[in-house]
Amino acid sequence: MSDQAIRSILIVGGGTAGWISAAVLARFLDPARCTITLIESEEIGTIGVGEATVPLMQHLNGLLGIDEREFVRATQGSFKLGIEFRDWGRIGDRFFHGFGDYGDAIEGVAPHQHWLKLRGEGDPTPIDAYSLPWAMAERGRFAPPSSDPAKQQHYYRYAFHFDALLYARFLRNYCEQRGVRRIEGRVVDAALDGESGRIAAVITADGERHAADLFIDCSGFRGLLIEEALGTGYEDWRHWLPCDSAVVAPSALAGPPAPYTLSTAREAGWQWRIPLQHRMGNGYVYASGFTDDARARDLFTANVEGALLADPRLLRFTTGRRKRFWNRNCVAIGLAGGFMEPLESTSIQLIQTAIARLIEYFPDRNWDPRVAEEYNRVTTSEFERIRDFLILHYCLTRRDDAPLWDHCRAMALPDTLAHKIATFRATGRVPLLSEESYQEPSWVAIFAGNGLLPDRYDPLVDRIDRDRLRAGLAHRRQQIAEAAEATPPHGLFLNRCCRAEA
Ligand code: FAD
Repeated sequence: MSDQAIRSILIVGGGTAGWISAAVLARFLDPARCTITLIESEEIGTIGVGEATVPLMQHLNGLLGIDEREFVRATQGSFKLGIEFRDWGRIGDRFFHGFGDYGDAIEGVAPHQHWLKLRGEGDPTPIDAYSLPWAMAERGRFAPPSSDPAKQQHYYRYAFHFDALLYARFLRNYCEQRGVRRIEGRVVDAALDGESGRIAAVITADGERHAADLFIDCSGFRGLLIEEALGTGYEDWRHWLPCDSAVVAPSALAGPPAPYTLSTAREAGWQWRIPLQHRMGNGYVYASGFTDDARARDLFTANVEGALLADPRLLRFTTGRRKRFWNRNCVAIGLAGGFMEPLESTSIQLIQTAIARLIEYFPDRNWDPRVAEEYNRVTTSEFERIRDFLILHYCLTRRDDAPLWDHCRAMALPDTLAHKIATFRATGRVPLLSEESYQEPSWVAIFAGNGLLPDRYDPLVDRIDRDRLRAGLAHRRQQIAEAAEATPPHGLFLNRCCRAEA
């Protein structure tokens, strides 16, 4: 062991970010060589929302050796095949962003290119007809994908909805069994090393000093260490993503939980519906510059399905990111690092990739600045590419019924997004970097769903005879519909896989 190795890590915060970070560190580090301590304050509590995920969550469970059924059972979770968007492009529109492609490539060309050709010739079939996740979601069905690439059931992935408070409890148990020490306490100050400016210790309200080599700030929006102690600065993205508020409340389930998240655009934002086993999670994310809190609350409660189980809670946020995620000996993960509205359920994913990246670029006490610089470069790019993907949902709108939508249609876009839109228009392809979270089928879902189709399709599609193409795609649609019909109802699947063995 190098004499400069990190010997102690202190995590401030026990929300989803704190406990995921602790769990991944406990999995990869040797507790005899590096201690992991987490300080949290029950008095302050966690944000408690954050209930929908992306398929990377499966990977996290696998990495931590967590049995998926145990996880779903412990968190009252459900399975998620994607997100249905209603009223986004225009009021009355409906489209699906499923986890997976629209089937496999046809003679080496992406499936959406073939769909584009037929569409251009007047075939009105929506692209969702080629999405097995949508075919299952629409019927309320769920089963995991097949491992056989010859089957349509191979071409999708899935994620989860879960109760964030139960998840934090579940992970706390996991971590404590693996040597993570938890301290209940309120951090009131941080002591900096006079020479290096690094954090030497945090001080809790009882006067205790907690020293460590490396600090992970998971303290939520405030950024107790990264901002309040180190003054890192924040890049505000509200000019691109104007939503800055949410009103949230759970409601009673009105039927079996649907295997997808629902996002419905409203006059000043959008409303989510996330079905769990024991309740529905709901929230209206809105731009306070385009409505007022009382009106937002009324609109939200008028549109919630099922009886409300608690009074609606108001949350405020500033979309953007910390100027540096890693500053000196402090890495900010979760809300302390930055926040983008949960339109594509990306926050927990960003927690996962952040802690995985920290393991990849794990420091030593030489604190070579190039290590943090590279971490920050990749993390910044990842944040910015997700930001662009979220802006895409808004800027393509054709709604003209409310000032928010007029603003979004006319706003200036980041160059990186403008380039993607222009390239898609010209080629039907989406230029992607290696660290992008969203691959081409996801971009195609949002483009097509909002009515933006490219000027041409891939010329290689013309190698296939038109009648053969029509017949092939009709066969594919039929296979998808049959596969979906043969899949069990989501509620039944949940019962079998979770409750029967509880
Ligand atoms: P928090 O949950 O705020 O936890 C902060 C922790 O720090 C707490 O334990 C607190 O006690 C502790 N703490 C704070 N100050 C101190 C102190 N002084 N001393 C000691 N401890 C302290 N993400 C998704 O992936 N999917 C979603 O669907 C989703 N929906 C969301 C909806 C909304 C409206 C919002 C606002 C967020 C949503 N998120 C979603 C984001 C998600 O909630 C967070 O990314 C996730 O919960 C992680 O939060 P956190 O752990 O960073 O912060």
